[in-house]
Amino acid sequence: MSELRVQPLVLTDQDVVLVTGGTGLFGKAVEHVVKQDNLPGSWVFLGSKDGDLRDLSACKALFEKYKPTYVLHLAAFVGGLFKNMNFKVSFWLDNVNMNNNILSCCYEYGVKKTISCLSTCVFPDKIEYPITEDKLHVGPPHFSNDAYAYAKRMLDMLSVWYNEQAVREGKESRFSSVIPTNLYGPHDNFNVENGHVLPGLMHKCYKAQKGGSDFIVYGSGKPLRQFLFSHDAARMLLWTMLNYQSQEPIMLCVSEEDEKSIGQVAQSIKDAFNFSGNMIFDTSKADGQFKKTASNAKMLRLNPTFKYTPFDEAIKTTVQWFLDNYETARK
Ligand code: NAP
Ligand code: GDP
Repeated sequence: MSELRVQPLVLTDQDVVLVTGGTGLFGKAVEHVVKQDNLPGSWVFLGSKDGDLRDLSACKALFEKYKPTYVLHLAAFVGGLFKNMNFKVSFWLDNVNMNNNILSCCYEYGVKKTISCLSTCVFPDKIEYPITEDKLHVGPPHFSNDAYAYAKRMLDMLSVWYNEQAVREGKESRFSSVIPTNLYGPHDNFNVENGHVLPGLMHKCYKAQKGGSDFIVYGSGKPLRQFLFSHDAARMLLWTMLNYQSQEPIMLCVSEEDEKSIGQVAQSIKDAFNFSGNMIFDTSKADGQFKKTASNAKMLRLNPTFKYTPFDEAIKTTVQWFLDNYETARK
């Protein structure tokens, strides 16, 4: 079977697309693109207030209520390097419970297509670069985020097993996943201790500017990351939902040439805030994995006309969103 549908899937007004994690960074970006492109169908963006997805009966109640035809499963217990190192049991239990509940409901309630979200953090630590989709299970993950990594890897396996079962039982349900690199954008978690590096640095730069203090960047600033704007990730995810029909995961990332060091992105943030004070690297803090360079070759082979938002423009949009929404932003 070809990786691409012969004709893209056409949503109708009878379709219900349930987006778990709909109140988070990625979910809000999907909502933004769905509205901007005026996509048909009923779109339901769920947050944890709508139901705790770790609880099977809460999940079933949501599926009974909305009767989704498609599910984008983005909800997860998420965090940056430091949260990953400190809350491993929750990273495993919460994520495995949510994933098992959502995928089992998708199968039981006959959802036609479910796309779940993995992460490039979950690939093996010792790996040949660039990382490609087929290397997900070929070695142990980095110790700093092993709990999150194994939970995501089991989500991939559960998708495979449900596909096998669906074929055996003659059911229409199909399961696949996307694998984003580091995401950033409006509605991110700007908490300095628990969030990811870009929103954490934005918040720290904001505070340094307000308080006239130094801008502290954790670690050496040397590790490399591929940062993907959440609106670009959302466009790729929606493209995947409508066009891609393979069960193999597909990477969502910028090209290898656009990989940046933490020091470089800290400088871009400093520029976006017009911060003229000192930028200091606190090398007593962990660097985490040095790099996890991923290949966007598969996405660009299948979707060659995709246009990325330029990095500096996306940083400015995110900083402006943070400034405009400072009081209510997660921080
Ligand atoms: P996020 O901003 O922290 O949002 C997490 C979402 O999950 C929120 O909508 C949250 O709901 C929901 N959620 C968490 N626990 C829940 C529970 N027990 N029951 C119901 N909902 C729950 O995270 P994100 O960055 O958008 O991440 C979305 C997906 O992308 C995740 O699968 C993550 O692993 C993946 N990913 C993220 C990155 C990144 O850099 N951020 C990179 C690669 C992959 P409330 O906010 O309403 O509580
Ligand atoms: P990762 O990409 O999964 O490792 O997670 P993060 O998004 O948390 O990025 C971690 C990298 O950014 C490490 O090299 C950290 O040392 C570095 N870093 C620099 N300053 C910060 C910060 O304020 N918060 C976080 N989370 N990481 C930071």
